[in-house]
Amino acid sequence: MNRQQEYVLRTIEERDIRFVRLWFTDILGTLKSVAVAPAELEQAFTEGIGIDGSVIEGFTRVYEADMVVQPDADTFQVLPWRERTARMFCDIHMPDGTPAATDSRHILRRALDSASREGFTFYTHPEIEFYLFNEPYDPKTGPVPVDQAGYFDHVARGDGHDFRRGAIDTLEQMGISVEFSHHEGGPGQQEIDLRYADALSMADNIMTFRTVVREVALQQGAFASFMPKPLAPWPGSGMHTHVSLFEGDTNAFYEPGAAYELSQTGRRFMAGVLAHSREICAVTNQWVNSYKRLWGGGEAPAYVCWGHNNRSALARVPMYSIGKGHSRRVEVRSIDSACNPYLTYALILASGLRGIREGYDLPPEAEDDVWALTDAERRALGIDPLPQSLGEAVAVMEESDLVAEVLGEQVFDFYLRNKWQEWGQYRSQVTQFELDRYLLHL
Ligand code: GLN
Ligand code: MG
Ligand code: MG
Ligand code: MG
Repeated sequence: MNRQQEYVLRTIEERDIRFVRLWFTDILGTLKSVAVAPAELEQAFTEGIGIDGSVIEGFTRVYEADMVVQPDADTFQVLPWRERTARMFCDIHMPDGTPAATDSRHILRRALDSASREGFTFYTHPEIEFYLFNEPYDPKTGPVPVDQAGYFDHVARGDGHDFRRGAIDTLEQMGISVEFSHHEGGPGQQEIDLRYADALSMADNIMTFRTVVREVALQQGAFASFMPKPLAPWPGSGMHTHVSLFEGDTNAFYEPGAAYELSQTGRRFMAGVLAHSREICAVTNQWVNSYKRLWGGGEAPAYVCWGHNNRSALARVPMYSIGKGHSRRVEVRSIDSACNPYLTYALILASGLRGIREGYDLPPEAEDDVWALTDAERRALGIDPLPQSLGEAVAVMEESDLVAEVLGEQVFDFYLRNKWQEWGQYRSQVTQFELDRYLLHL
Protein backbone atom coordinates (compact mmCIF):
# COMPACT_ATOMS: atom_id res chain seq x y z
CA MET A 1 0.00 0.00 0.00
CA ASN A 2 1.16 3.54 -0.67
CA ARG A 3 1.05 6.49 1.72
CA GLN A 4 -2.23 7.89 0.47
CA GLN A 5 -3.87 4.50 0.97
CA GLU A 6 -2.45 4.32 4.49
CA TYR A 7 -3.76 7.83 5.14
CA VAL A 8 -7.25 6.68 4.05
CA LEU A 9 -7.19 3.69 6.41
CA ARG A 10 -6.05 5.92 9.27
CA THR A 11 -8.74 8.52 8.59
CA ILE A 12 -11.41 5.85 8.48
CA GLU A 13 -10.37 4.70 11.91
CA GLU A 14 -10.05 8.19 13.37
CA ARG A 15 -13.39 9.36 12.03
CA ASP A 16 -15.10 6.09 12.85
CA ILE A 17 -16.32 5.55 9.28
CA ARG A 18 -18.59 2.51 8.97
CA PHE A 19 -19.24 2.36 5.24
CA VAL A 20 -17.06 3.20 2.29
CA ARG A 21 -18.87 3.64 -0.98
CA LEU A 22 -16.91 2.71 -4.06
CA TRP A 23 -18.11 4.82 -6.97
CA PHE A 24 -17.74 4.32 -10.70
CA THR A 25 -19.62 5.44 -13.79
CA ASP A 26 -21.24 3.42 -16.53
CA ILE A 27 -20.96 4.28 -20.20
CA LEU A 28 -24.12 6.40 -20.19
CA GLY A 29 -22.88 8.46 -17.25
CA THR A 30 -24.86 6.86 -14.42
CA LEU A 31 -23.09 6.76 -11.08
CA LYS A 32 -22.77 3.26 -9.56
CA SER A 33 -21.89 2.50 -5.96
CA VAL A 34 -20.88 -0.55 -3.93
CA ALA A 35 -20.53 -0.10 -0.17
CA VAL A 36 -17.77 -1.99 1.60
CA ALA A 37 -16.95 -2.38 5.26
CA PRO A 38 -13.69 -0.68 6.29
CA ALA A 39 -12.21 -4.11 7.06
CA GLU A 40 -12.34 -4.94 3.33
CA LEU A 41 -10.47 -1.83 2.24
CA GLU A 42 -6.95 -3.07 2.52
CA GLN A 43 -7.80 -5.86 0.13
CA ALA A 44 -9.72 -3.43 -2.10
CA PHE A 45 -6.54 -1.33 -2.41
CA THR A 46 -4.22 -4.22 -3.10
CA GLU A 47 -6.32 -6.66 -5.11
CA GLY A 48 -9.54 -4.80 -5.84
CA ILE A 49 -13.08 -6.05 -5.28
CA GLY A 50 -14.84 -8.33 -7.74
CA ILE A 51 -18.13 -7.27 -9.32
CA ASP A 52 -20.41 -8.79 -11.92
CA GLY A 53 -19.94 -6.36 -14.79
CA SER A 54 -22.80 -7.80 -16.82
CA VAL A 55 -25.38 -5.91 -14.74
CA ILE A 56 -23.82 -2.56 -15.58
CA GLU A 57 -24.81 -0.71 -18.72
CA GLY A 58 -22.12 -1.05 -21.36
CA PHE A 59 -19.53 -2.73 -19.16
CA THR A 60 -19.08 -6.24 -20.46
CA ARG A 61 -19.92 -8.75 -23.02
CA VAL A 62 -21.84 -11.53 -21.26
CA TYR A 63 -18.96 -13.96 -21.61
CA GLU A 64 -16.54 -11.78 -19.69
CA ALA A 65 -18.65 -10.64 -16.77
CA ASP A 66 -16.04 -10.70 -13.99
CA MET A 67 -14.47 -7.34 -13.28
CA VAL A 68 -12.51 -5.78 -10.46
CA VAL A 69 -13.02 -2.33 -8.97
CA GLN A 70 -10.01 -0.67 -7.40
CA PRO A 71 -10.52 2.47 -5.30
CA ASP A 72 -8.42 5.53 -6.11
CA ALA A 73 -7.19 6.67 -2.68
CA ASP A 74 -6.65 10.23 -3.96
CA THR A 75 -10.42 10.63 -4.27
CA PHE A 76 -11.27 9.73 -0.66
CA GLN A 77 -13.88 12.04 0.91
CA VAL A 78 -16.24 11.75 3.84
CA LEU A 79 -19.87 12.28 2.76
CA PRO A 80 -21.24 15.30 4.66
CA TRP A 81 -24.88 14.25 4.32
CA ARG A 82 -24.55 10.69 5.52
CA GLU A 83 -23.23 9.70 8.92
CA ARG A 84 -19.97 7.80 9.12
CA THR A 85 -19.86 7.21 5.38
CA ALA A 86 -17.10 8.00 2.90
CA ARG A 87 -16.54 7.49 -0.81
CA MET A 88 -13.80 6.87 -3.33
CA PHE A 89 -13.91 6.76 -7.11
CA CYS A 90 -12.65 3.52 -8.62
CA ASP A 91 -10.82 2.30 -11.65
CA ILE A 92 -12.17 -0.85 -13.27
CA HIS A 93 -9.91 -3.73 -14.22
CA MET A 94 -10.29 -7.09 -15.86
CA PRO A 95 -9.42 -10.10 -13.70
CA ASP A 96 -5.96 -10.20 -15.35
CA GLY A 97 -5.24 -6.67 -14.08
CA THR A 98 -5.53 -4.81 -17.41
CA PRO A 99 -7.73 -1.68 -17.40
CA ALA A 100 -11.30 -2.42 -18.53
CA ALA A 101 -11.89 -1.04 -22.02
CA THR A 102 -15.35 0.02 -20.86
CA ASP A 103 -14.27 2.13 -17.87
CA SER A 104 -15.15 5.79 -18.52
CA ARG A 105 -12.29 6.99 -16.31
CA HIS A 106 -9.86 4.85 -18.26
CA ILE A 107 -11.09 6.28 -21.56
CA LEU A 108 -10.53 9.82 -20.32
CA ARG A 109 -7.16 8.95 -18.80
CA ARG A 110 -6.02 7.46 -22.12
CA ALA A 111 -6.95 10.72 -23.88
CA LEU A 112 -5.14 12.75 -21.19
CA ASP A 113 -2.04 10.55 -21.56
CA SER A 114 -1.96 11.24 -25.25
CA ALA A 115 -2.12 14.98 -24.54
CA SER A 116 0.62 14.70 -21.94
CA ARG A 117 2.90 12.96 -24.46
CA GLU A 118 2.65 16.21 -26.41
CA GLY A 119 3.41 18.21 -23.28
CA PHE A 120 -0.16 19.32 -22.47
CA THR A 121 -2.35 19.17 -19.36
CA PHE A 122 -6.06 19.65 -20.03
CA TYR A 123 -8.04 21.86 -17.65
CA THR A 124 -11.79 22.28 -17.59
CA HIS A 125 -14.26 24.48 -15.76
CA PRO A 126 -17.96 23.69 -16.21
CA GLU A 127 -20.99 25.92 -15.72
CA ILE A 128 -23.59 23.40 -14.64
CA GLU A 129 -27.27 24.23 -15.15
CA PHE A 130 -30.21 22.27 -13.75
CA TYR A 131 -33.80 22.72 -12.57
CA LEU A 132 -35.32 22.45 -9.11
CA PHE A 133 -38.89 21.16 -8.98
CA ASN A 134 -41.27 20.56 -6.08
CA GLU A 135 -41.04 17.12 -4.59
CA PRO A 136 -42.90 14.80 -5.02
CA TYR A 137 -43.33 14.82 -8.77
CA ASP A 138 -46.87 14.20 -9.96
CA PRO A 139 -46.99 13.11 -13.62
CA LYS A 140 -50.58 14.43 -13.82
CA THR A 141 -49.57 18.07 -13.20
CA GLY A 142 -46.09 17.79 -14.73
CA PRO A 143 -42.95 19.17 -13.06
CA VAL A 144 -43.64 22.30 -10.92
CA PRO A 145 -40.60 24.64 -10.59
CA VAL A 146 -39.76 25.77 -7.04
CA ASP A 147 -39.91 29.47 -8.03
CA GLN A 148 -40.90 31.81 -10.83
CA ALA A 149 -37.66 33.79 -10.99
CA GLY A 150 -35.38 34.40 -13.99
CA TYR A 151 -31.80 35.07 -15.06
CA PHE A 152 -29.69 36.40 -12.15
CA ASP A 153 -32.86 37.32 -10.23
CA HIS A 154 -32.37 37.88 -6.57
CA VAL A 155 -35.33 36.03 -5.12
CA ALA A 156 -36.42 37.59 -1.84
CA ARG A 157 -38.09 34.60 -0.25
CA GLY A 158 -35.30 32.58 -1.76
CA ASP A 159 -35.66 28.82 -1.78
CA GLY A 160 -32.94 29.06 -4.39
CA HIS A 161 -30.58 30.90 -2.00
CA ASP A 162 -30.93 28.31 0.73
CA PHE A 163 -30.50 25.58 -1.77
CA ARG A 164 -27.39 27.08 -3.41
CA ARG A 165 -25.86 27.86 -0.03
CA GLY A 166 -26.48 24.27 1.13
CA ALA A 167 -25.14 22.77 -2.09
CA ILE A 168 -22.02 24.96 -2.11
CA ASP A 169 -21.25 24.23 1.57
CA THR A 170 -21.54 20.51 0.92
CA LEU A 171 -19.41 20.67 -2.23
CA GLU A 172 -16.71 22.68 -0.44
CA GLN A 173 -16.69 20.15 2.40
CA MET A 174 -15.92 17.55 -0.24
CA GLY A 175 -13.02 19.54 -1.65
CA ILE A 176 -14.87 20.91 -4.68
CA SER A 177 -14.49 24.68 -5.07
CA VAL A 178 -17.37 26.70 -6.42
CA GLU A 179 -16.61 29.89 -8.27
CA PHE A 180 -19.98 31.33 -9.07
CA SER A 181 -23.67 30.54 -8.69
CA HIS A 182 -26.89 32.23 -9.72
CA HIS A 183 -30.46 31.75 -10.79
CA GLU A 184 -30.70 30.83 -14.48
CA GLY A 185 -33.24 31.85 -17.11
CA GLY A 186 -36.04 29.34 -16.46
CA PRO A 187 -38.30 29.18 -13.36
CA GLY A 188 -36.52 27.06 -10.74
CA GLN A 189 -33.40 26.88 -12.95
CA GLN A 190 -30.01 27.22 -11.24
CA GLU A 191 -26.41 27.44 -12.32
CA ILE A 192 -23.31 26.56 -10.31
CA ASP A 193 -19.83 27.00 -11.80
CA LEU A 194 -16.93 24.93 -10.50
CA ARG A 195 -13.39 26.25 -10.20
CA TYR A 196 -11.15 24.82 -12.92
CA ALA A 197 -9.29 21.55 -12.38
CA ASP A 198 -7.57 18.92 -14.49
CA ALA A 199 -10.18 17.12 -16.58
CA LEU A 200 -10.11 13.79 -14.72
CA SER A 201 -10.61 15.40 -11.30
CA MET A 202 -13.29 17.57 -12.87
CA ALA A 203 -15.19 14.62 -14.35
CA ASP A 204 -15.13 13.02 -10.87
CA ASN A 205 -16.25 16.35 -9.41
CA ILE A 206 -19.17 16.56 -11.83
CA MET A 207 -20.37 13.09 -10.81
CA THR A 208 -20.10 14.15 -7.14
CA PHE A 209 -21.81 17.46 -7.93
CA ARG A 210 -24.87 15.73 -9.39
CA THR A 211 -25.19 13.55 -6.30
CA VAL A 212 -24.72 16.46 -3.88
CA VAL A 213 -27.24 18.64 -5.71
CA ARG A 214 -29.83 15.85 -5.65
CA GLU A 215 -29.24 15.19 -1.93
CA VAL A 216 -29.41 18.85 -0.90
CA ALA A 217 -32.53 19.43 -3.01
CA LEU A 218 -34.30 16.51 -1.31
CA GLN A 219 -33.38 17.92 2.11
CA GLN A 220 -35.28 21.07 1.07
CA GLY A 221 -38.37 19.35 -0.31
CA ALA A 222 -37.36 19.69 -3.95
CA PHE A 223 -35.83 17.45 -6.55
CA ALA A 224 -33.11 18.41 -8.99
CA SER A 225 -33.13 17.39 -12.64
CA PHE A 226 -30.26 17.56 -15.09
CA MET A 227 -32.57 16.65 -17.97
CA PRO A 228 -31.45 18.76 -20.96
CA LYS A 229 -34.87 20.28 -21.71
CA PRO A 230 -37.56 19.56 -19.11
CA LEU A 231 -39.88 22.51 -19.92
CA ALA A 232 -40.65 23.25 -23.55
CA PRO A 233 -41.15 27.04 -23.24
CA TRP A 234 -38.04 27.62 -21.11
CA PRO A 235 -34.29 27.29 -21.72
CA GLY A 236 -32.68 23.89 -21.40
CA SER A 237 -29.83 22.98 -19.06
CA GLY A 238 -26.39 23.20 -20.61
CA MET A 239 -23.01 22.36 -19.17
CA HIS A 240 -20.90 24.96 -20.98
CA THR A 241 -17.29 24.06 -20.33
CA HIS A 242 -14.29 26.39 -20.42
CA VAL A 243 -11.24 24.49 -21.60
CA SER A 244 -7.53 25.25 -21.78
CA LEU A 245 -4.24 23.45 -22.31
CA PHE A 246 -1.24 24.13 -20.10
CA GLU A 247 2.40 23.40 -20.85
CA GLY A 248 3.82 23.20 -17.33
CA ASP A 249 2.71 26.45 -15.68
CA THR A 250 2.10 28.22 -18.95
CA ASN A 251 -1.32 28.55 -20.53
CA ALA A 252 -0.76 27.39 -24.12
CA PHE A 253 -3.88 29.25 -25.27
CA TYR A 254 -2.49 32.65 -24.22
CA GLU A 255 -0.64 34.95 -26.55
CA PRO A 256 -0.42 38.64 -25.64
CA GLY A 257 -1.18 40.82 -28.62
CA ALA A 258 -2.97 38.10 -30.64
CA ALA A 259 -6.65 38.57 -31.47
CA TYR A 260 -8.54 37.91 -28.22
CA GLU A 261 -5.12 36.98 -26.82
CA LEU A 262 -5.72 33.51 -28.24
CA SER A 263 -2.57 31.70 -29.40
CA GLN A 264 -2.27 29.61 -32.54
CA THR A 265 -2.53 26.51 -30.33
CA GLY A 266 -5.78 27.87 -28.92
CA ARG A 267 -7.15 28.71 -32.36
CA ARG A 268 -6.32 25.28 -33.73
CA PHE A 269 -7.78 23.58 -30.68
CA MET A 270 -11.03 25.49 -31.15
CA ALA A 271 -10.97 24.69 -34.89
CA GLY A 272 -10.68 20.98 -33.98
CA VAL A 273 -13.61 21.15 -31.56
CA LEU A 274 -15.74 22.87 -34.22
CA ALA A 275 -14.70 20.51 -37.04
CA HIS A 276 -15.54 17.40 -35.00
CA SER A 277 -18.53 18.79 -33.08
CA ARG A 278 -21.09 17.02 -35.29
CA GLU A 279 -19.51 13.57 -34.92
CA ILE A 280 -19.07 13.83 -31.12
CA CYS A 281 -22.58 15.24 -30.62
CA ALA A 282 -24.13 11.85 -29.77
CA VAL A 283 -21.84 11.90 -26.70
CA THR A 284 -21.89 15.59 -25.73
CA ASN A 285 -25.68 15.49 -26.20
CA GLN A 286 -26.59 11.87 -25.71
CA TRP A 287 -30.36 11.69 -25.20
CA VAL A 288 -33.41 12.07 -27.44
CA ASN A 289 -34.31 15.06 -25.25
CA SER A 290 -30.88 16.73 -25.75
CA TYR A 291 -31.94 17.82 -29.23
CA LYS A 292 -34.98 19.65 -27.86
CA ARG A 293 -32.48 21.86 -26.00
CA LEU A 294 -30.16 22.38 -28.97
CA TRP A 295 -33.06 23.24 -31.26
CA GLY A 296 -35.19 25.03 -28.69
CA GLY A 297 -33.46 28.45 -28.56
CA GLY A 298 -32.75 29.73 -25.04
CA GLU A 299 -29.09 30.53 -25.90
CA ALA A 300 -28.22 26.91 -26.68
CA PRO A 301 -26.10 26.51 -29.83
CA ALA A 302 -27.54 24.78 -32.88
CA TYR A 303 -24.92 25.76 -35.47
CA VAL A 304 -21.22 25.05 -35.77
CA CYS A 305 -19.50 28.41 -35.39
CA TRP A 306 -17.54 30.49 -32.91
CA GLY A 307 -17.58 34.06 -31.64
CA HIS A 308 -16.42 36.18 -28.76
CA ASN A 309 -19.55 37.86 -27.53
CA ASN A 310 -21.95 35.60 -29.36
CA ARG A 311 -24.20 33.44 -27.26
CA SER A 312 -25.64 31.63 -30.24
CA ALA A 313 -22.19 30.21 -31.04
CA LEU A 314 -21.03 26.70 -30.23
CA ALA A 315 -17.63 27.91 -29.07
CA ARG A 316 -16.77 31.27 -27.61
CA VAL A 317 -13.69 33.13 -26.45
CA PRO A 318 -14.91 34.79 -23.26
CA MET A 319 -13.81 38.42 -23.07
CA TYR A 320 -13.93 38.74 -19.27
CA SER A 321 -10.65 36.88 -18.90
CA ILE A 322 -8.79 39.24 -21.25
CA GLY A 323 -5.63 40.50 -19.60
CA LYS A 324 -5.48 37.51 -17.26
CA GLY A 325 -3.07 35.35 -19.23
CA HIS A 326 -3.36 32.19 -17.20
CA SER A 327 -7.12 32.18 -17.58
CA ARG A 328 -7.24 32.45 -21.41
CA ARG A 329 -9.66 29.76 -22.54
CA VAL A 330 -12.29 28.59 -24.96
CA GLU A 331 -15.87 27.98 -23.87
CA VAL A 332 -17.57 24.97 -25.46
CA ARG A 333 -21.32 25.56 -25.27
CA SER A 334 -22.94 22.51 -26.90
CA ILE A 335 -22.41 20.07 -23.99
CA ASP A 336 -25.49 19.41 -21.83
CA SER A 337 -25.85 18.64 -18.14
CA ALA A 338 -26.82 14.99 -18.71
CA CYS A 339 -23.71 13.84 -20.55
CA ASN A 340 -21.10 11.35 -19.38
CA PRO A 341 -18.40 13.91 -18.41
CA TYR A 342 -15.51 11.44 -18.83
CA LEU A 343 -16.37 10.53 -22.41
CA THR A 344 -17.35 14.09 -23.26
CA TYR A 345 -14.05 15.58 -22.04
CA ALA A 346 -12.07 12.79 -23.73
CA LEU A 347 -13.72 13.64 -27.06
CA ILE A 348 -13.43 17.42 -26.72
CA LEU A 349 -9.73 17.00 -25.94
CA ALA A 350 -9.13 14.58 -28.81
CA SER A 351 -10.95 16.89 -31.25
CA GLY A 352 -8.87 19.88 -30.15
CA LEU A 353 -5.60 17.94 -30.26
CA ARG A 354 -6.35 16.78 -33.77
CA GLY A 355 -6.87 20.41 -34.73
CA ILE A 356 -3.43 21.24 -33.28
CA ARG A 357 -1.63 18.22 -34.77
CA GLU A 358 -3.07 18.68 -38.22
CA GLY A 359 -2.96 22.45 -38.16
CA TYR A 360 -6.67 23.13 -38.72
CA ASP A 361 -7.53 26.67 -39.72
CA LEU A 362 -10.11 28.45 -37.65
CA PRO A 363 -13.06 29.59 -39.82
CA PRO A 364 -13.97 33.30 -39.65
CA GLU A 365 -15.76 34.42 -36.55
CA ALA A 366 -19.58 34.53 -36.62
CA GLU A 367 -20.58 37.97 -35.46
CA ASP A 368 -24.32 37.75 -35.99
CA ASP A 369 -26.90 35.87 -34.05
CA VAL A 370 -26.74 32.78 -36.27
CA TRP A 371 -30.30 31.87 -35.29
CA ALA A 372 -31.52 35.01 -37.05
CA LEU A 373 -29.86 34.20 -40.40
CA THR A 374 -31.64 32.29 -43.16
CA ASP A 375 -30.45 28.82 -44.17
CA ALA A 376 -29.05 30.33 -47.36
CA GLU A 377 -27.10 32.99 -45.43
CA ARG A 378 -25.68 30.38 -43.10
CA ARG A 379 -24.70 28.20 -46.05
CA ALA A 380 -22.99 31.14 -47.69
CA LEU A 381 -20.98 31.67 -44.49
CA GLY A 382 -20.11 27.94 -44.37
CA ILE A 383 -21.98 27.45 -41.06
CA ASP A 384 -23.26 23.86 -40.65
CA PRO A 385 -26.07 22.86 -38.33
CA LEU A 386 -25.46 20.43 -35.46
CA PRO A 387 -27.42 17.18 -35.83
CA GLN A 388 -31.13 17.86 -35.38
CA SER A 389 -31.98 14.62 -33.61
CA LEU A 390 -30.34 11.78 -31.76
CA GLY A 391 -30.87 9.63 -34.85
CA GLU A 392 -28.90 12.05 -37.03
CA ALA A 393 -26.17 12.39 -34.38
CA VAL A 394 -25.71 8.63 -34.12
CA ALA A 395 -25.57 8.29 -37.91
CA VAL A 396 -22.82 10.93 -38.05
CA MET A 397 -20.94 9.32 -35.17
CA GLU A 398 -21.04 5.93 -36.86
CA GLU A 399 -18.76 7.30 -39.61
CA SER A 400 -16.26 8.87 -37.20
CA ASP A 401 -12.76 7.40 -36.93
CA LEU A 402 -12.00 9.94 -34.18
CA VAL A 403 -14.83 8.73 -31.92
CA ALA A 404 -14.01 5.07 -32.64
CA GLU A 405 -10.39 5.67 -31.70
CA VAL A 406 -11.10 7.60 -28.50
CA LEU A 407 -13.85 5.33 -27.16
CA GLY A 408 -12.22 2.11 -28.34
CA GLU A 409 -14.00 -0.52 -30.42
CA GLN A 410 -16.02 -2.15 -27.64
CA VAL A 411 -17.49 1.06 -26.24
CA PHE A 412 -18.02 2.50 -29.73
CA ASP A 413 -20.08 -0.58 -30.71
CA PHE A 414 -22.01 -0.66 -27.47
CA TYR A 415 -22.75 3.03 -27.66
CA LEU A 416 -24.05 2.91 -31.22
CA ARG A 417 -26.24 -0.11 -30.49
CA ASN A 418 -27.62 1.44 -27.31
CA LYS A 419 -28.36 4.79 -28.97
CA TRP A 420 -29.94 3.26 -32.07
CA GLN A 421 -32.22 1.39 -29.70
CA GLU A 422 -33.16 4.56 -27.80
CA TRP A 423 -33.86 6.37 -31.06
CA GLY A 424 -35.90 3.42 -32.38
CA GLN A 425 -38.03 3.32 -29.23
CA TYR A 426 -38.64 7.06 -29.40
CA ARG A 427 -39.60 6.92 -33.05
CA SER A 428 -42.11 4.15 -32.48
CA GLN A 429 -44.20 6.35 -30.14
CA VAL A 430 -47.46 7.90 -31.26
CA THR A 431 -47.32 11.20 -29.38
CA GLN A 432 -49.94 13.57 -28.01
CA PHE A 433 -48.77 16.05 -30.65
CA GLU A 434 -49.81 13.63 -33.40
CA LEU A 435 -53.16 12.77 -31.82
CA ASP A 436 -53.99 16.47 -31.29
CA ARG A 437 -52.94 17.37 -34.79
CA TYR A 438 -54.21 14.46 -36.87
CA LEU A 439 -56.79 12.26 -35.18
CA LEU A 440 -59.87 14.37 -35.84
CA HIS A 441 -58.60 15.95 -39.05
CA LEU A 442 -57.31 13.10 -41.16
N1 GLN B 1 -29.34 27.50 -20.73
C1 GLN B 1 -28.53 27.81 -21.89
C2 GLN B 1 -28.05 26.52 -22.55
O1 GLN B 1 -28.75 25.57 -22.50
C3 GLN B 1 -27.38 28.72 -21.55
C4 GLN B 1 -27.78 30.04 -20.95
C5 GLN B 1 -26.57 30.87 -20.54
O2 GLN B 1 -25.82 30.49 -19.66
N2 GLN B 1 -26.31 31.93 -21.21
O3 GLN B 1 -26.99 26.40 -23.12
MG1 MG C 1 -22.68 31.03 -16.84
MG1 MG D 1 -25.78 29.70 -17.80
MG1 MG E 1 -21.57 30.08 -20.54
